[in-house]
Amino acid sequence: LGLIPTLRKYVQDFEEKTKIRSLFETRGKEHRLSSAMEAAIYRLIQEALTNTAKHAYPTYVLVEITYQAQLVKIVVQDNGLGFKPELFQQKSKDHGHFGLIGMRERVELLEGRMEIESAENQGTKIVIHIPTNVE
Ligand code: ATP
Ligand code: MG
Repeated sequence: LGLIPTLRKYVQDFEEKTKIRSLFETRGKEHRLSSAMEAAIYRLIQEALTNTAKHAYPTYVLVEITYQAQLVKIVVQDNGLGFKPELFQQKSKDHGHFGLIGMRERVELLEGRMEIESAENQGTKIVIHIPTNVE
């Protein structure tokens, strides 16, 4: 199975397991990526959703994949507790939290970038851009 059906199923299962209303959307013209890239994207979304279930206590989460000509954009957004992104690096080092750091490393290996928008009580939005025209 390709990335999109695999993710659709994963998000459905996540919703059943957590009871968090979970929406999966794709935009743009779907196309297959290298298996390494598809595997990396799957893991990124897995970790983002795991964090949502573990830390956010939201009522809602959105996973959105947008295919553009030379770029894939990934958004994972929840309406939960939020956090101060500038603190996570320090917390990670001090207490062995490696999820977000691992995500950032995975994105950088693919020459992409990751932005975390989060504020206390305003939910969290993770936006990842990965160029698909490079090997
Ligand atoms: P690990 O991923 O190593 O099992 P972790 O989930 O605590 O541990 P990270 O994934 O790096 O570590 O996340 C760092 C911290 O950022 C979390 O401990 C949590 O405080 C905060 N955080 C991450 N994602 C969210 C989110 N969606 N909502 C609220 N807080 C979050
Ligand atoms: Mg984590």
